[in-house]
Amino acid sequence: MKEKENKDKKKIESDLKDHKQFKKELIPPLLQIKGMTSFSWCYERLPELFWAFLIIGNIERGIALNYFRYIAKFVEENPNCSDITISGISKLPVAKLKDFTKYFTSWSDKINILMRPMLLFPKLPGISEWEKVLDKPVIDKDWKNIANGVNKTFWHQSQEATDCRWIKALCRVLSGKMHFPQSMESKVREILEYPNYGDMRKVRPSIRALEMIPNLDEDEDKLNWVNHFWEHSFKSTSCVFVENPEEVIKKRKKEIDVEIKEKGKYYFKEVKDVRIKLIEHFFSTSEISTINSRHEGAFGLALYGISLFLEIICYKLSFSITGRITLRALVETYITLAYLLKKEQDEPKIWDDYRIYGTGQIKLIYLKLKEMEKKASCVKIDKMEDIANEDKWLEFVPINLGHWESANLRKMSEEIGLKETYDKFYNYTSGFIHANWGGIRESVFEKCLNPLHRFHNIPTATNLSFLSNVTDDSLEILNNILECLSIAYPKFTFRINKSDLKD
Ligand SMILES: [Zn+2]
Repeated sequence: MKEKENKDKKKIESDLKDHKQFKKELIPPLLQIKGMTSFSWCYERLPELFWAFLIIGNIERGIALNYFRYIAKFVEENPNCSDITISGISKLPVAKLKDFTKYFTSWSDKINILMRPMLLFPKLPGISEWEKVLDKPVIDKDWKNIANGVNKTFWHQSQEATDCRWIKALCRVLSGKMHFPQSMESKVREILEYPNYGDMRKVRPSIRALEMIPNLDEDEDKLNWVNHFWEHSFKSTSCVFVENPEEVIKKRKKEIDVEIKEKGKYYFKEVKDVRIKLIEHFFSTSEISTINSRHEGAFGLALYGISLFLEIICYKLSFSITGRITLRALVETYITLAYLLKKEQDEPKIWDDYRIYGTGQIKLIYLKLKEMEKKASCVKIDKMEDIANEDKWLEFVPINLGHWESANLRKMSEEIGLKETYDKFYNYTSGFIHANWGGIRESVFEKCLNPLHRFHNIPTATNLSFLSNVTDDSLEILNNILECLSIAYPKFTFRINKSDLKD
């Protein structure tokens, strides 16, 4: 899509603050209007302007618009031909239909060739008349022209789509189907003289709004044609992958090489060195062998953060789904550590609570699996038994069934001023952890590039996902964790320095 169109699209997006909360839903402004339903240009109305998008998509714009004006002239003289959609034309009385189709094909051979692909659709409304005035289609070339037309008009606000929507609106105006009060004279002039009169930034949206007004004469038959158009297009043409898998891998090879090999080597050394320093700091701050929930908790969380980051690096997870799940675990580690540090000022026993809760969870896992007499490859039952009994005999370990702090991560992040970190990463990574549609869509599907397939989703061509890189975010979080550790046990100044290797 063109950059300008992207900007236009952005401008009409509403902000979160414009949404209204209704029960558990945030309702966007358009849906707050009573009776408003969503409508679809490309699904329901675009195929009705088949002839128009074939022309606008395959010939110089000036010529196309002149031709549109030529059609409008016929409508002006024959007001009962106001509906210039494919279905609308087909419903004309036979004599009128003959006249109109003949008129359509009397302007130039160039235009006739562009309209020829309409005959590729066996159920085109009025096909018997169109067959009389158009040449037989040339299969490959003509499917390509249809694809060009759909491609350029698929986005409902593209210039080409607006041009097609203009001819539909113009014919309604010229035939007297739409009336405007005297005071709207200049509005009418904007439509009649499009695109040469008025401020196009305002004219284009008002043309699109006019085009959307439903025609009261329309009936259910319209959808038959629309459905046939998309169905026949789908069956007659193949999916188009973004690139073949080898190309994707070749293209990203440099980025992957830098990330996985060079940066991997760099970060492994950086993190290994910091880990050694952290362990030295652990021993230098250990005072006695009595259980110390705070000391083991704080260092444990920091070491856990380091392990998570190292796994991203060593197991080459930067571009993967697993990388996102690991990033989420890092964020939870960071928020948990920061929360414990903040809360300990009022609740010195909070580190014990955190530990007792975790031990209770291990006890629960141990007892459940023992009862079930089932093995899980990921759980070493003996290890669970050891940990459950580690601090005291497990008969004295309570099991807490809620969250250890009876607060969820969002509330915890709010209390410690880390809501921004939470907002930045939580929902996005949740998509992957909870197998929500967002995560699924991004990681295993891509768009088919055939416009005639309405850019539907198809499985990615590569076996492994190539998502955007999680390394920088993970690094930022890990350094924040180390910062917390330094607050808990001053002073620990070592951080992982960002690699300056370029992707
Ligand atoms: Zn496809």
